[in-house]
Amino acid sequence: MTMKCSEVLACISEYVDKEVCPDSCSAIEEHLAKCSHCRAQVQTITQTVTLVRRMKNCCAQKDMVIRLQRRIVRIDRGKL
Ligand SMILES: [Zn+2]
Repeated sequence: MTMKCSEVLACISEYVDKEVCPDSCSAIEEHLAKCSHCRAQVQTITQTVTLVRRMKNCCAQKDMVIRLQRRIVRIDRGKL
């Protein structure tokens, strides 16, 4: 199963949160092994998520970061 960058980026947040099914997960990992561009996206989002988890106590900021995350993915899709 081969995924396009746009397909990977569409479910990248779920992937980072480990909310994708095992089939999609392995397809994404397969794509990431070959695509440094998507790998960079995963890294950015993982870092964002880690940051959010460190600020667990602040819900407002968590919402803000999630919105930011979506914007990153949107900007990125615009380039493809
Ligand atoms: Zn890609």
